[in-house]
Amino acid sequence: MPELLDTLRTTFGYDHFRPLQREIIESHLAGRDVFALLPTGGGKSMCFQLPALVRPDRGLTVVVSPLIALMKDQVDQLSAAGVPATYLNSTLSATEARSRLAGLHRGQFRLLYVAPERLMLDNWQQNLTGWKVAALAIDEAHCVSEWGHDFRPEFRQIAQLRDLLPEVPVMALTATATERVRDDIINHLRLRDPAVYVASFNRPNLNYKVLPKDGPTRQIIDFIKTRPEESGIVYCATRATAERTAEALAGRGYSARPYHAGLSNDERSANQESFLRDDTRIICATIAFGMGINKPNVRWVIHYDLPKNIEGYYQETGRAGRDGLPGDCLLLFSAGDAAKQTHFIDEMTDEHERNVARAQLRQMLHYAESAGCRRVDLLGYFGEAFTIDGCGACDNCLEPRETYDGTILAQKFLSCVYRIRQASQFGCGANHVIEVLTGADTEKIRRWGHDRITTYGIGTERSRPQWAAVFRELLRLGYLMQTDGKFPTVELTQEGVDVLRSRETIMLTKPLIVPKAQKVRRRR
Ligand code: ADP
Ligand code: ZN
Repeated sequence: MPELLDTLRTTFGYDHFRPLQREIIESHLAGRDVFALLPTGGGKSMCFQLPALVRPDRGLTVVVSPLIALMKDQVDQLSAAGVPATYLNSTLSATEARSRLAGLHRGQFRLLYVAPERLMLDNWQQNLTGWKVAALAIDEAHCVSEWGHDFRPEFRQIAQLRDLLPEVPVMALTATATERVRDDIINHLRLRDPAVYVASFNRPNLNYKVLPKDGPTRQIIDFIKTRPEESGIVYCATRATAERTAEALAGRGYSARPYHAGLSNDERSANQESFLRDDTRIICATIAFGMGINKPNVRWVIHYDLPKNIEGYYQETGRAGRDGLPGDCLLLFSAGDAAKQTHFIDEMTDEHERNVARAQLRQMLHYAESAGCRRVDLLGYFGEAFTIDGCGACDNCLEPRETYDGTILAQKFLSCVYRIRQASQFGCGANHVIEVLTGADTEKIRRWGHDRITTYGIGTERSRPQWAAVFRELLRLGYLMQTDGKFPTVELTQEGVDVLRSRETIMLTKPLIVPKAQKVRRRR
């Protein structure tokens, strides 16, 4: 279909399709359901905008999107390009909404953006059947899945549109979907034998690095002072940290502003605008910042705190280098942050939610502490194999981490798990194992008689945080596993049992720890 390329050129001003855009558009126009997984910036919108324009039936394409804030932008851009498009959401006055509805009744538009919660209102259902709807596009389709990072229950209702408009092909688009989320999307949106398109998630121009967090403000300044002209984002876990970091940087003469939900609307959009215009170089933000913001020249993204999951991390780092030029992604990691999150997760009352959060944190920790290629880890998370040996653009590939013979430590830990299991017939958590190893005097240890097993107190040469790092590494290496549930317990895997018996050498990676001397010097 050469006319697709013509329309891309004349209406949108682009020379060629991005990967998979053409295939997605062609399948969709052929009447098939489509599932499309394209990375952020991959050009998902084009996949439904262009067909809306060229479809011979001149019907209406309904775009369901949770991003109300972006509808106006998209519609403005489309209108400027001569595409008759509109949106309906809670930000419109009643008069404005009425006039748009009238336009829809007259068949004046080719594209309609709408928030999912509107779709199931009664008059909407009538409207939809009367509007000659030719296509449905569900943007941010991962919101339908509890396994995604952004579950929105109202997305579950979208499937009812299938009964209402049985002939209309559905296109589901997302930038984040693991295998599990992908299945959820296909099932919950009731896609019929969909054409599935999955683009590579690799962002070859991004460099990934993890540093142990130690005086984060100073670390950030060390990082940015060598990049005087560049724009970047510092992601923080809380509003307070975002605020404080922006102040600290501004106080040292850097052009930095905060962005978080605690600011007034005016202040927030002023800060965002200023960043987009390059008047402000650095934005210190919570994850509220960035959804759908298209600033091509973000050169770096720093994570001040450990993200809650890999998906979020990938999205947030993905905001760097959208122009294809190099971008740097730095994660400041501390095991303390992980402990804080664990504590928070333990308090969750919904069991399913708790298990999801725990599994996600485990994957995030794995990423942060792994000695392997960051790219392999990130892409592996999305089910994509990265097979090139040494990506050349992550800290672990550029500067392989040091390993050491950890056989004795590993043996101590594994046998302690084994002995506890033998003594008690029930599993216990990693903290308890570490307390037994370090010979702690706790009520539980006395009650269960764990001070009488042979591994009690055999690990006093290491601190508890050091043992915790060994534990996480053994988990990563597959010698141990952790159960789900309110109180996760630690168990040996078959590999763990084997290695315990064979006493073969176990190489462990040196944890990311800032040398003591350096710390002392800095405090003076
Ligand atoms: P996504 O939703 O996948 O993150 P967008 O739809 O916002 O991405 O598109 C990102 C940017 O890429 C937009 O500015 C869009 O206009 C642009 N774009 C889309 N398709 C193409 C193309 N074929 N060639 C060049 N730019 C494109
Ligand atoms: Zn690498």
